[in-house]
Amino acid sequence: KSKEISGNSYHFFSEDMNTRTLETVQLENALYKALDRNQLLLFYQPQVDVTTNKVIGFEALLRWQHPEKGLVNPDQFITIAEETALIVPIGNWVLQEACQQLKRWQQLSGNHSMTMAVNLSARQFEQNNLYETVTQAIEEATISPECLHLELTENLIIKNTKTTLQTMKKLRAFGIKIAVDDFGTGYSSLGYLNRLPIDTLKIDKSFLHDIMIDNSHAVIANIIITLAHNLNLSVIAEGVETKEQVQFLLERNCYLMQGYYFSKPKAGAEITEIYFSIQR
Ligand code: C2E
Ligand code: MG
Ligand code: MG
Ligand code: MG
Repeated sequence: KSKEISGNSYHFFSEDMNTRTLETVQLENALYKALDRNQLLLFYQPQVDVTTNKVIGFEALLRWQHPEKGLVNPDQFITIAEETALIVPIGNWVLQEACQQLKRWQQLSGNHSMTMAVNLSARQFEQNNLYETVTQAIEEATISPECLHLELTENLIIKNTKTTLQTMKKLRAFGIKIAVDDFGTGYSSLGYLNRLPIDTLKIDKSFLHDIMIDNSHAVIANIIITLAHNLNLSVIAEGVETKEQVQFLLERNCYLMQGYYFSKPKAGAEITEIYFSIQR
């Protein structure tokens, strides 16, 4: 790490890096088995239309029920999954599971336009069969393609390799919706917005967190909403936690929201119980 020894690669690994590497390797090995051992599960967070106060859909969020560590959040293993390419089989499972779950909830509620948002990594787009994987998950679940929303980050989108763009276009032609996750946090120019097949901007939670105390964040949130409206894109706010934020967004005609104010992400069974059980 230090400059003085940078010429000598042998000394490059500090004690600290060695231990971290060991931990990473252990996590990696455990993650290899996690899928087969059914330790992965999906949590779901409602997305609400505040004008009608109805849940219009859910975002699927990956969790790992680790035998020793307990419930592990994706921030602690998605990077490893991406680096090892494990994200490909895991991501395929997520797609199948999320589509199946959506089908059950559509049937229970009778609302067949209910949506499911699924996060995708760049690594998944580098697979040449992503289109087949996604369309197969939809067909096996017999949901309509418009109900599946794929959330991609700006950084994935601007990587914009020929295959990424082609796959996005094909998926969209099939009817699937594409959302830009964490919008405003990437390092891209805005030029891609009218060139690329995109349906929705998802305002990153960092811009909402302190709109009440940091005016520059309020300005950015405002610009994103205006941008979406002017480009005819949908806009949804994530990380909505307070009444004041709901008010702020509504005043600006952003009425699709997701966040702890409405509900934390919850296990599928719990969501069924809360929103779709008959004996309510
Ligand atoms: P994301 O897609 O931007 O998801 C939003 C994150 O914000 C989630 O964290 C969610 O639990 C959290 N969140 C929701 N409402 C609030 C709120 O009101 N306040 C705050 N402070 N946080 C809120 P989570 O579940 O830990 O997921 C983290 C990230 O991991 C996701 O960010 C997504 O990038 C990634 N991820 C999750 N599931 C998958 C997956 O199946 N595949 C891939 N490739 N990535 C995933
Ligand atoms: Mg997301
Ligand atoms: Mg996000
Ligand atoms: Mg994120």
